[in-house]
Amino acid sequence: MLWIVRAVCTSKIAATLCMGVVAFLGDHIVERSALPEDMRAVVDNMTHGAIGLLSWHIVTAHLRDLSLSMRVCEVLFCGLIASAVDLDHFAAARSFRIQDARQLSSRSPMHCTSVTLAVSGLMLLLAHVFQWPSLHHFTWILVAAVVGHHLRDATRRGLWLCPFGSSPPIPYTGYMVGCMLLPHVVPSLMQWTQLTHHPATSPSVELVVSVTEESLTGLVQFQANELSSRGRQKPCVWKMGFRFSLQQ
Ligand SMILES: [Zn+2]
Repeated sequence: MLWIVRAVCTSKIAATLCMGVVAFLGDHIVERSALPEDMRAVVDNMTHGAIGLLSWHIVTAHLRDLSLSMRVCEVLFCGLIASAVDLDHFAAARSFRIQDARQLSSRSPMHCTSVTLAVSGLMLLLAHVFQWPSLHHFTWILVAAVVGHHLRDATRRGLWLCPFGSSPPIPYTGYMVGCMLLPHVVPSLMQWTQLTHHPATSPSVELVVSVTEESLTGLVQFQANELSSRGRQKPCVWKMGFRFSLQQ
């Protein structure tokens, strides 16, 4: 048993397979078990949370510069968000009873995929405008948690793309592949959208010129800092030399 836990903690492939198994078992209990309705709702929500946990665990395995404590916090946070998405059923039903939340005729706002993507895009834009790496990182935790949740729900009612309506329910294999693929796609998207400049480390240009009787030589040096996927700064220097002959 311990080797399974160790494999899931250290291997992205093992963690991805574990996510598939957790999703399958959770769905099996929700759909086919003889448990009372309320208990099945709890298992359904726990499955969403577990998929969120494993999803960000896999994302953090792709990101090299995260401390262990940060990884644990982010993984728990992603699981919490994936689970908390269903709280809007209660808000829409205006009741704390599971029966009321399950009997909603319309879909609740946090289940709208197009709004989630639009809000995430806006948050990424703000992260770039205000050079806020934490907001950039948080946005992708949100995307991994909420999109994974929506994919799972979409096997029953499709993806809700308001104001354009809903897609047809997605096939079960499509949802499984989508959920297992999502945490491997997110790190690339994080890299692609990462912040490229930080105000605290404004780039500098230095020109060093030396003149002799024979020639004029110089060195242009451009210094800046690249931001890693976690917003940490890595020094980065470009140098370009030149030499002009002054002899006639
Ligand atoms: Zn849901």
